[in-house]
Amino acid sequence: MQEETEIHRRPTYLVSVLSNKCPRCRQGNMFKISNPYNLKKYMLMNEECPVCGQPTEVEVGFYYGTAYVSYALTIAFSVATFIAWWVLIGFSLDDNRIFWWLGINAFFMLALQPIFMRLSRSIWLSWFVKYDPEWRTHKVGKNERVIDEHKGNW
Ligand SMILES: [Zn+2]
Repeated sequence: MQEETEIHRRPTYLVSVLSNKCPRCRQGNMFKISNPYNLKKYMLMNEECPVCGQPTEVEVGFYYGTAYVSYALTIAFSVATFIAWWVLIGFSLDDNRIFWWLGINAFFMLALQPIFMRLSRSIWLSWFVKYDPEWRTHKVGKNERVIDEHKGNW
């Protein structure tokens, strides 16, 4: 009975990534502040997951790689708005609708940047730290490759 409710409460990969949860337990928050538009503090991360203790930085310079993820997200976003615009409004060589799309797309990309940056980190960490349904009983793996002074130094 106990086990059954556990399974039902197990958050899916997509939900946990989109909500910036720790990939190991999918419950703890990766970021200290939930509002991504608190622009002074929105990238502050918990050093470890407040729920299961998983470190959020697993090696030196770990989050450099997120540049690729956010690049891919940006491309995917632009492709999506391009297709939506094409279907709903259309493009033509006779007017400047394409420039409207460019401008509006650029605006949204900027406006959504904090969300993209957080999402990139969630996705990135989730590729290196796997979900562990037994996180309550398993020990957190030690990460020897972290140098304390270099933390947050990306
Ligand atoms: Zn966790």
